[in-house]
Amino acid sequence: MKAFYASEQKRHDPKAFLSSGAQKPNPEKPERVERLLAGARAAGCTIERPRDHGPGPVAAEYLDFLEHIFVRWQRIEGASAEVIPNIHPIARGGSYPASAVGQAGYHMADTACPISSETWQSALWSAWSAVEAAEGVMSGAPAAYALCRPPGHHAFADVAGGFCFINNSAVAAQTLRKNAARVAILDVDLHHGNGTQGIFYARPDVLTVSLHADPVRFYPFFWGHADERGEGAGLGYNFNLPLARKSGDAAFLDALDVAFQRIRAFAPEALVVALGLDAFEGDPFGGLSVTTLGFSRIGEAIAGLGLPTVIVQEGGYLCDELGDNLTAFLTGFGGGKKR
Ligand SMILES: [Zn+2]
Repeated sequence: MKAFYASEQKRHDPKAFLSSGAQKPNPEKPERVERLLAGARAAGCTIERPRDHGPGPVAAEYLDFLEHIFVRWQRIEGASAEVIPNIHPIARGGSYPASAVGQAGYHMADTACPISSETWQSALWSAWSAVEAAEGVMSGAPAAYALCRPPGHHAFADVAGGFCFINNSAVAAQTLRKNAARVAILDVDLHHGNGTQGIFYARPDVLTVSLHADPVRFYPFFWGHADERGEGAGLGYNFNLPLARKSGDAAFLDALDVAFQRIRAFAPEALVVALGLDAFEGDPFGGLSVTTLGFSRIGEAIAGLGLPTVIVQEGGYLCDELGDNLTAFLTGFGGGKKR
């Protein structure tokens, strides 16, 4: 399987992370890239650099913000080293603000996505890795892996959040839609894919399915509940499967079977897997208890859908097994048989 990654994606190096009121080192570290590259290589992937794909389907106003906010922010007297908003609009009813501070609040959902000088290039190349993987699948490859870092599934169309700036899984799905009438996104990250859900919430052509730790007491809190099913033309095309904290392989695989029923009924022509590896029992977030062998079985099970598949990296944080878990998933996927 081909894997796509550009070295620019490693330059983004967020420092701060405000978690439940406490400032901590940001866990979305560049070192993740090394672990994931090693994991992909161990699974037999060849690593290729994506091409420049231009701005694509992402909102122009938001991309302009991402590209220029760091330099604008530094003009503020006593500016912080990273862009972190101190104000958020309660809802988007008002006017689009002109100031750097106002726009940071408008485009950044929380404090877990600080923007530094390198963030824009890293986020852009991460999205292009997703485009390149999707184009590979559109050209006939049965599957491709996009080593997307920074991750994307908490980013809405014009809002960063939760370590994410551009929603790479959504970009992959939208790219696949050029050839496929229906695309499903299956998100197996520990956290609910709220940005992905938000982007496609009113659309019936992209089914969004997410397995995740129950958000009743877990990020992203406001989204990911079972009663969020889509709206308008998209009603019935969003499916959330919240899992009890510390659920292990058996519960995860059972929920995956339920997800497969919905995906098969939708009859997609292509699949995007939003592959978080933070459901791992040893991940620093500690929300679920999937094992390394479990990731292999999850990969094998997803391959059983028999769909052209773009695998997009989402979360999964530094622990000794991070690379092994990617290898396990990709190897399991490669060994999976259509059922
Ligand atoms: Zn996550």
